[in-house]
Amino acid sequence: MLSFFGSKSSRTEAPPPAAAPQPASAPAAEGEQLSRETGIVLDAITNLLQAYGKYAFDTELRSGDEIRNATQAWRMHAAVGAPRPDHEDDKSGTGVFYRDWKGLNHYFNETRRDEAKYVTRVLDDFREMTWAFVSAVHTVVVEEAEESKIATNQMNRMRVAVDSNSTDLMKREALAVVSVMEKLIEHRKERQREQFASLADKLKNLGRELEDARRESAIDGLTGLHNRKAFDDYISRSIELHTLLGKPGCLMMVDMDHFKGINDTHGHPVGDAAIRQIANCLSKTFLRRVDFVARYGGDEFAVILQETSADNAAMLAERLRKSVADLPPIEVAPGAEPPRLTLSIGIGEIRLGDSTFDWIKRADSALYHAKRAGRDAVHVLTP
Ligand code: GH3
Ligand code: MG
Repeated sequence: MLSFFGSKSSRTEAPPPAAAPQPASAPAAEGEQLSRETGIVLDAITNLLQAYGKYAFDTELRSGDEIRNATQAWRMHAAVGAPRPDHEDDKSGTGVFYRDWKGLNHYFNETRRDEAKYVTRVLDDFREMTWAFVSAVHTVVVEEAEESKIATNQMNRMRVAVDSNSTDLMKREALAVVSVMEKLIEHRKERQREQFASLADKLKNLGRELEDARRESAIDGLTGLHNRKAFDDYISRSIELHTLLGKPGCLMMVDMDHFKGINDTHGHPVGDAAIRQIANCLSKTFLRRVDFVARYGGDEFAVILQETSADNAAMLAERLRKSVADLPPIEVAPGAEPPRLTLSIGIGEIRLGDSTFDWIKRADSALYHAKRAGRDAVHVLTP
C-alpha cells in the first residue's frame, strides 16, 4: 500500500510558491505539520481509489478491467504524480499542487454515474423479466383451469353415455371426447406460440428510454401520486401475483364526499388544494413499500394493499378517515367558511380467478354502499 509517511521520495518536490505561499518567517514546525496533513489526505484518497478499483465491474461502456486500470493510473497520479491515464506525455513525479485533481474528480464522477445507470437499468430489466414470468404463469394457471373444466365436463357426458347403454350415444360422446381433446391440444399449442411471442416481445422492448418515459408519465401532476395508467398496470400485476402466491389483498376505492360543492362554493383552486390534502393523508397512512396509492380520477383515489386481510384494510381505512377529520381547515377566501373534508371508502377483497374488472367492481360496489350509508363511512365487501 502506498503511504506518505516515511516515503521521502513522494515528498521531495517542494510546492510551487505561487500555489502555496509560505511566509518566509513560518516556523519549520508549521511546514512539517502541513506536510503531514497533506500526507494523511493523500493516503485517504489513494486508499479510496484502491478500494474503488478493486471492486470495479463491467458496465455498458467499459469492462471491469478497463475501469480497474484507469482507476489504478489515477491513483498513482494522485499518490506520486505518475502520468494520468491516456496522457503518456505527462512528466512523471508532478508535485502535489500540479496534479490534475479536477481531472480525477471528473473521472470519478463520470465512472460512478455510468455504473449507477448500468445498475439501475439491469435491475429494472430484471424486474421486468420477473413480471413477464409471473404474467406467463398466471395465464397458464387460469387457462388450464378453464381447459380442465371443459375436459371434465366432456368426461361426465361420456360417463352418462356409458351408463345409458345406448351405443349410439356412446359413439357420439366418444367422438365428442376426441374432438374436445383435439381442440384443447390445438388451443394449448396456439397459446404457447402466443406466450413465446409475447415473452420475446417483452424482452425486446426493454429499452431504457421507453422505461424512463413510462416512469415519468406514471405520476399524477396535481398530487404526485401514481396516475391511472400506473394503477392499471399495477392492478393486473397484483392479480397475477395473487394467482401465483394466493396471498390476500384488498383494493380500496376512496372518494371525496360532496366534492362538487367545494368547487362550486370556493372555486377550482380550493378544490385542487383539497385534493392535494387528501393525497397527503393517503401517503401518510399507507407507508409500506408495497402499498400502492393512485389518483384514480377526479376526486377518487385507489389503494392496492398486498398481503392485507379485509379486517386490516378496514382498520387502515378508519385511520385514513380519522386523519382527514384531523386536518387543519383548508385556506379559503376571507369571510368564507372552510369546507369540512370527508371520505367514503369501499374495500373489495381479491378472490382467486378475479379479473381486473371483477376486483374493481367489488371495491366500487363497497364504495357505493358507503355513500348510500350516508358518506364519511367505510364499507367492506368480501367475495
Ligand atoms: P359524492 O359525495 O357523491 O362523491 O359527490 P361529489 O360531489 O364528490 O361527486 P363526484 O365524486 O361525482 O364529483 C367529482 C367532481 O370532481 C366533479 C368534477 O368537477 C370534480 N373534479 C374532477 N377533477 C378535478 C380536479 O382535478 N380539480 C378539481 N378542483 N375538481 C375536479
Ligand atoms: Mg366525490
